[in-house]
Amino acid sequence: MSAKIIDGKSLAATVRESVAQTIETLAAHGVRPGLAVILAGDNPASRIYVRNKVRACEQTGVRWELHEYAHDVPEATLLERIEGLNRDPAVHGILVQLPLPRQIDVSHVLDAVSPAKDVDGFHLESLGALAAGRPGFVPCTPAGIMRMLEHERVPLAGRHAVVVGRSNVVGKPLALLLLQKDATVTICHSKTPALAQTTRHADVLVAAAGRARLITADMVKPGACVIDVGTNRLPDGKLAGDVDFEAVREVAGLISPVPGGVGPMTVAMLIANTVRSAMQIHAI
Ligand code: NAP
Repeated sequence: MSAKIIDGKSLAATVRESVAQTIETLAAHGVRPGLAVILAGDNPASRIYVRNKVRACEQTGVRWELHEYAHDVPEATLLERIEGLNRDPAVHGILVQLPLPRQIDVSHVLDAVSPAKDVDGFHLESLGALAAGRPGFVPCTPAGIMRMLEHERVPLAGRHAVVVGRSNVVGKPLALLLLQKDATVTICHSKTPALAQTTRHADVLVAAAGRARLITADMVKPGACVIDVGTNRLPDGKLAGDVDFEAVREVAGLISPVPGGVGPMTVAMLIANTVRSAMQIHAI
C-alpha cells in the first residue's frame, strides 16, 4: 500500500492562520511584528528563499525589510547593521540568509544577532538553550518538522529516529528535538559506514544530506515515517529531495514530498518565531 503523503503546504497555511490570530492580538496593543532580512552576495538559491520568506510576511501582515549587500561586503558593515537592528524597536526578528560570502566569519555574524531577536535560532545561545532543554528560539526547519510529526500524530517516545545529516541548521537541532520527545536517536553523516543498515531500523527517518535520491526503497523499514528535507537542483532544473520518492512511498507509511513538504513549514515557522518574538519583547 502506498504511503500517506504529508501535505506541508496545507499545514503551513494552518500555522499561518493561527499566527494571524496572534498578529491581531498584537495589533490591539499597537504592535506590528517586523522581520529584518540580511542578504549578502548573489547566490540565486538564497534569492529564492528570501523571496518566499518575504511573501509569507506579506501574506500574514508581518512588516519586513530587506538589507542587501554586494558579495564583497566587509564583515564590519554587516556587524554594524545588525547592531542597529538589535536596537530598532520596530524589528522583532533578524534573519541572516546563509550562506554568507567567503570573507565573512559566519559565527561572528550569527552571534551578533540579539538572542531576543534570533528568530532563525542560529545564535550560540539559542543552540545552547536547545541542547540544555531550556526555552529559546528553535531553528525553523527542525521546528517545522516537529510540527509535522505532531500534526500527523507520529509516535516518538521509545521509537528509533534516524537523522541523516549533522549540520547546525537541520540535523543536530532536529536530533535534540527528537531526543526531547523520548525517541532513541541515531545521527548519520558522510563518514557513517553502511548507511542502509542504520536507516533500515528507523521508525522515523529524516533525510537532510543534500544528496539527490540518497535514500532508496531498500533503505526504508516498511511502514516508517520518512521526512525529506533535501532540496537538490537536478541538471534538468527540476527540484529533487534526498529521498527516491516514487519508490520509497511504496514502502513507507508516511512520507513528506519535495517540493510541498518541509520547505513551506520552514517559512511558516519563521513567521511564527517572529510573531512570538514580538509578543515576548512587548511582554504581551
Ligand atoms: P549541509 O550543511 O551540507 O549538511 C549536510 C549533511 O549531510 C552533513 O552532515 C553531511 O555529512 C551529510 N551527508 C552528506 N552526504 C552524505 C551521505 N552520502 N551520507 C550520509 N550523510 C551525508 O546541509 P544542510 O544545510 O543541513 O541541508 C541539508 C539539505 O536540506 C540540503 O539539500 C538543503 O538544501 C536542504 N534544506 C532544506 C530546507 C528546507 O526548508 N526545505 C532548509 C534547510 C536545508 P558531513 O557532516 O560528514 O559532511
